[in-house]
Amino acid sequence: MLKLNQIVTQIEEEGAFAVSDRAMALKAKGHPIINLGIGQPDFLPPPHVLEAAEKAARDGPHGYTSPVGILPLRQAVADNVGSRYNLQINPDQVVIVPGGKVTIFFAAMLFGGPNSEILYPDPGFPPYREAILSAGAKPVPYGIHEAADFGFDADEVLSLITPATSLIILNSPANPTGGVVSPNEMKKLADGLAEHPHVAILSDEIYGHLVYDQSQFVSLLQFEHLRDRVILLDGWSKTFAMTGWRLGYGIWPLDLVEHVRKLITVDHSCVNGVAQMAGLAAITGPMDCVDEFLKSFRQRRDLLVAGLNNLPGITCRTPGGAFYAFPNITGTGLQSRELARRLLEEVYIATIAGDAFGENGKGYIRFSYAASRDELQQALTRMADFLHRI
Ligand code: PLP
Repeated sequence: MLKLNQIVTQIEEEGAFAVSDRAMALKAKGHPIINLGIGQPDFLPPPHVLEAAEKAARDGPHGYTSPVGILPLRQAVADNVGSRYNLQINPDQVVIVPGGKVTIFFAAMLFGGPNSEILYPDPGFPPYREAILSAGAKPVPYGIHEAADFGFDADEVLSLITPATSLIILNSPANPTGGVVSPNEMKKLADGLAEHPHVAILSDEIYGHLVYDQSQFVSLLQFEHLRDRVILLDGWSKTFAMTGWRLGYGIWPLDLVEHVRKLITVDHSCVNGVAQMAGLAAITGPMDCVDEFLKSFRQRRDLLVAGLNNLPGITCRTPGGAFYAFPNITGTGLQSRELARRLLEEVYIATIAGDAFGENGKGYIRFSYAASRDELQQALTRMADFLHRI
């Protein structure tokens, strides 16, 4: 018997990838799959980004870069985020990593360990819990509530803090619900956190550019009293349709960067130069592609949400951000997993069961509406047929 690390053997794979593999296998057999499962934009990255990548593939950098990323890219991120929120960010706080996820993992490693508790949203992005478990810490879920438009209750979150709490993970706009936490609730949480100076915050703002009403969105970096313990997570995957490029960043409190740097040199040394140069072109170039993506997502959201609300047994709130809808499906009489499985196997629509995102996701399924309007319309027609016959 091999002596495997039980922590690793017990963590779970992110369900969206398994559904995607199954959907691709069905498609390869000739079935007319509509993939509303995996969360990735169906656009191409803008042309100037592709040109920058082509040039970098020819001209370099070809070797290792600094573990934390090339300075022009870190400077550009600092300027970009700084000008968005009207604050000064030191490029030395910016750490470039291969994808948004890596910042989650490193934050969990840094704040984990056997005696620590880390709070995370339920339903929420599944890797949060698995990263916390990987780091040997105790995952403590807090509720994300449909009645609060898929936000949290700040008092509830604060009530879960103990002397062992080392980190709180926040995510707005959120996966899987598309919920955007209201400025009032975010402020209430931020004010309450002043009483808990031992707690760091990882604010996952990877969908921060995909908000339908920007006045409803606040970044955690906007709360000055928390700035020495907020880690901001963002990246290129969702904003610039670059999921496969594996490029993300964290903005860390300066004195934590040396620890992240060590983790990087143990783990992946640096992000490849081509992706970094492409990322630089993306955030220093014209941003009209992001506006176009958002406009298109809004139309698709409106089409999907209206259609879902016309289906028997389904009700769906209008999500304020990201590209997910998270309808309540309890009225269908089916469990989330059963409904998601049957939609895939019988009418070839890939979705993700809500409980793949935590206990509180039971009774929901997640739709990623990063698909054409034609596909969304077809999916709604097939679902209507399916739900009328079950
Ligand atoms: N955070 C959230 C909330 C996400 O939904 C995702 C991807 O789905 C990520 C982080 C990770 O992004 P990346 O693909 O850049 O690792």
